[in-house]
Amino acid sequence: MSPKSRAKRITRIVEPAPFTPCFAYRGSPSARQNLFCEGVSLDRIAGSVGTPAYVYSRGSIEGAYRALDRAFGSLPHTLCYAVKANSNLAVLRVLADLGSSFDIVSGGELDRLRRIGVPGNRIVFSGVGKTVEEIHEAIRYPGSRSRSAGILVFHVESAAELDLLLAEASRHISAGGSRPNASLRVNPDVMAGGHPHIATGGRGHKFGVSWDEARQLYLAHKDSRWLAWRGISAHLGSQIFSLRPYRQALTRLASYARDLAREGIPLDYIDIGGGLGIRYTRESPLVPATYARALARIVRPLGCRLLIEPGRALVGPAGVLLTRVLYEKANRAKNFVIVDAAMNDLIRPVLYGATHAITPAVRHRSARTKATRVDVVGPVCESADFLARDWLLPQVRPGDVLVVWTAGAYGFVQSSNYNARRRAAEVLVEGRKFRIVRERENYDDLVRGEQL
Ligand SMILES: *Cc1c(COP(=O)(O)O)cnc(C)c1O
Repeated sequence: MSPKSRAKRITRIVEPAPFTPCFAYRGSPSARQNLFCEGVSLDRIAGSVGTPAYVYSRGSIEGAYRALDRAFGSLPHTLCYAVKANSNLAVLRVLADLGSSFDIVSGGELDRLRRIGVPGNRIVFSGVGKTVEEIHEAIRYPGSRSRSAGILVFHVESAAELDLLLAEASRHISAGGSRPNASLRVNPDVMAGGHPHIATGGRGHKFGVSWDEARQLYLAHKDSRWLAWRGISAHLGSQIFSLRPYRQALTRLASYARDLAREGIPLDYIDIGGGLGIRYTRESPLVPATYARALARIVRPLGCRLLIEPGRALVGPAGVLLTRVLYEKANRAKNFVIVDAAMNDLIRPVLYGATHAITPAVRHRSARTKATRVDVVGPVCESADFLARDWLLPQVRPGDVLVVWTAGAYGFVQSSNYNARRRAAEVLVEGRKFRIVRERENYDDLVRGEQL
């Protein structure tokens, strides 16, 4: 490599934009630029709330929801936001206000929805290990105007879970309750997803039941007094950028639905799960209209309602993690920027090998020409504790705020107290206003429930 091209290489900084129009640098390119989330400077938020802090843009979540919803046009469809991607109450409220339904995987997520008053007919319950308490709670979850109480549908993932659901349902019905609605989650035997940990639809995965088994279960409980078959579901994985697995899996589900209709089990819902990929650095996400058209073509002839369960695509681009530079140091050939956020705050880099773009909240023209490759690491005592490796960063100083992009999904929700670290604050930006929607933990929070 010639000296000239090397110089060129190390001065090109990866710009994470355009992820979402809700995050943009403002100010004079020839002097100082400040990264804004909607109408608020992120440097200002860091100064006021402290770091590390997650910041979410309401406008970004709304934009993503509306774009996806509109893409399906007249096809009967329901977006069930996958709560596990980001379960902050204020984020859930933004989505509930948009009219979103929800996909949950635990009693804790059901409780969160109850706290913000989401009616049962907007909740689907997935998950391979539902406990008897969780099933009990969900069967009795308050409905709304709809006649039947309880949730919209249980996605049953095994014969044993079905037995448990039937037993709970019979108790509920004997006490005057109504039949729960159920679907079977079928393992579609389709490989998809951006990392082995987030592929879920292959025959070797723990999720769902095979079609042969599903068919037997549907037929065995065709005229059950204890439950009503309402749909069929699948979920392929996450960070999917191709239509092919969606088409393949949905075509299979559609043929199963036709088969069941012939057997006298007409279904109302066909659920293809979530998994839409987003851009972290250079990925090319599916365009909502393309995705919707491909799915609609398969579902429309069935006359079923399409359910989709997007998580990451709705909240991922809407969030950033703010962290402050503590120190810089060099060990032999490596340059390190040590920051106050760590793997306990954002585990995606080490868990999934994910790359999150990192840029300074305030950038100066002079500093941009002096970019170097650095590892951005946290204070936790693990070599796995990094936010980025070999990342090209302009010169930064202790005290500078760095922005870790695209951290709205699977960020805070996977954080922990490892190394007795307090979990970060969460902030929601709405136009020119911002507010703390989860306070940073304090040391009392860290020992709650412990006994000497
Ligand atoms: C995780 C999950 C989703 C959401 O996946 P994304 O990739 O975030 O869209 C949807 N459905 C089920 C059953 C899931 O487990």
